[in-house]
Amino acid sequence: MINVPFSYPPKCNDDLKSIASAINQGQVVGNGPFTQKAEILLKEQLHNKGEILLTTSCTHALEMAAILLDISPGDEIIVPSYTFVSSALAFYMRGAKIVFADIRADTLNIDVSKLEDLVTERTRAIVAVHYGGIACEMDELITLSLKYGIHIIEDNAHGLYGKYRGKYLGSIGSMGTQSFHGTKNISCGEGGALILNNPDFFERAHVIREKGTNRSKFLDGKVDKYTWVDEGSSYVMSDILAALLFSQLNFSDSIQSRRKQIWETYNNQLKKWARNLSILLPHIPSYCNQAYHLFYLVFPNGGTRNTFINFMASKNITVTSHYQPLHSSDFMQKIPDNQHDSCPVTTRVSNCIARLPLFFNMSDEQLQYVIENIHDFEF
Ligand SMILES: *Cc1c(COP(=O)(O)O)cnc(C)c1O
Repeated sequence: MINVPFSYPPKCNDDLKSIASAINQGQVVGNGPFTQKAEILLKEQLHNKGEILLTTSCTHALEMAAILLDISPGDEIIVPSYTFVSSALAFYMRGAKIVFADIRADTLNIDVSKLEDLVTERTRAIVAVHYGGIACEMDELITLSLKYGIHIIEDNAHGLYGKYRGKYLGSIGSMGTQSFHGTKNISCGEGGALILNNPDFFERAHVIREKGTNRSKFLDGKVDKYTWVDEGSSYVMSDILAALLFSQLNFSDSIQSRRKQIWETYNNQLKKWARNLSILLPHIPSYCNQAYHLFYLVFPNGGTRNTFINFMASKNITVTSHYQPLHSSDFMQKIPDNQHDSCPVTTRVSNCIARLPLFFNMSDEQLQYVIENIHDFEF
């Protein structure tokens, strides 16, 4: 029987060569030549006019964003309940109160129409997660940010190369964060990037990434010794990983076009089956160029979703659920100050969603095997 994992880290032709050259040149610590090459390439690819800093993870890029905004106890951050823990955790770690917002039933992105009710005088930022690499309604979010003087932080872990009305995701809000974790479209195992779209943040971001020191200035020859000047942590990516990332970024056209092909095959071949069974497929609004990160099915109820996951597992195909609602998580229930209204769409989607295998090195045989078995599933 064919075996189909849910995900597999992307493998490109030059990955090993690139890693070997970093090691052979003795370039292993962070903020070296491969880090710079990857940052420049990413900036070019995204037509970004700000600054892009590689980091050890997307979680750490979000932590840097929280430090840059001087988030402190009493501040409130609005985060969708349907997202990865880090979108909230990075701000919680600075003492912020997390205010959870529900999502839209079509794109599964934060429901912008409900946000004005959640904004208070203490709101400092809204975290916009582009779920599956499909853009949030950025014009509406920017309008809110200007009206209330709050920042939009784009958690763009899913959305590298995705666009909103022609603009690359991650480059629209005050800051954007990327993930290069092994499950993401472009990967160096563990890694991330912080995209800064406001020059006010540039200098301090380099300090925060270098353990609160001005080592970056020292490396640039601007000071003759470096010292402790601010808060920060160890957020620099090793040049070995940056070399791997550089190889992957150079290969991004191939990776994205193969993912697109798989995504469109699922969409074309499952459309009719899904409609007959009242299963929802991803919705791509006209203002989006999506990033082909996820292909999912939303079942009419949780029982059928679970039966489907088990059915596919019996065929050696790994299909998985996704986020558990954060507002009702074990941790948030323990925090008396962080009680939340229900987020009904989040709760329903969390129970009813199933994600299909989608990875760069997936073969046509694996893809057809998944689709055939889905067509065999009845309820
Ligand atoms: C993967 C992911 C993260 C965390 O990324 P790391 O690089 O593993 O820290 C954060 N937010 C979202 C939406 C993610 O999917």
